Amino acid sequence: MQRYFANKNGQNIILGDGDVHHLLHVMRAKKGDELEAVADNKLYACLVESVNPLVVTINYEIPTDSELDEKITLFFALAKGEKIDFVVQKATELGVSKVVLLKTERCVVKFDDKSLSHKLERFNKIAKEASEQSHRLQIPEIVGTVDIKNIPQELLSDINLVAYEKEAGKTASLIDNIVKGKSTSIMIGPEGGFSEEEVNLLTSKYGFNRVSLGKRILRTETAAVYALSVIGALLEK
Ligand code: SAH
Repeated sequence: MQRYFANKNGQNIILGDGDVHHLLHVMRAKKGDELEAVADNKLYACLVESVNPLVVTINYEIPTDSELDEKITLFFALAKGEKIDFVVQKATELGVSKVVLLKTERCVVKFDDKSLSHKLERFNKIAKEASEQSHRLQIPEIVGTVDIKNIPQELLSDINLVAYEKEAGKTASLIDNIVKGKSTSIMIGPEGGFSEEEVNLLTSKYGFNRVSLGKRILRTETAAVYALSVIGALLEK
């Protein structure tokens, strides 16, 4: 059944403009049609009471459990091309709470303020659609951009990990650093990797632990998907 993220006003469901258009003109909704809406992190079975004006009311709440118990934050260095789109979509499906777009020394991509606000709009749309598709109850927040030298404290988690390619195949594996009941941040570097100074700063200034993602060097987008899959699997065990 079609599902939308919406706002709730008493027993009424208020859809955003894009979703009103989708419901009326793409789904060609009629009076009496049913749909599902997520509002305030709850899922509701709803009914189209009328289409002109559009009135959607709540029938009942559907008990559901599709969120991870612990919050995961992905710090993802600005990567080229469509890679950020891909990672925002996959990270959403894999249950992240937040994606922080990170500026590092070796990032080739630069967003100026104007292109950043356009890009954030696009990333938020991708996150919303991926949340709907994966039946989540929340849309991850996309934060951007943050300089690796200046990470606001509130973006950090109980456990903060940096995937460092120079640790590849060494003992500090990601698996050994995940603890149930604790929020986790995982940081993935750009195509050119992290500099030694950056990783030193992360460990000394913010208390990050360096972790390996295995013996092979993964592309940045693969590294993000791999890390989030492993963390999710361990937290849901
Ligand atoms: N150009 C670099 C690799 C960068 S890979 C080199 O050749 O060494 C991009 C990012 O993915 C890295 O910064 C790291 O965060 C992550 N990554 C990829 N493979 C990894 C591995 N095996 N262990 C830890 N991190 C890894």
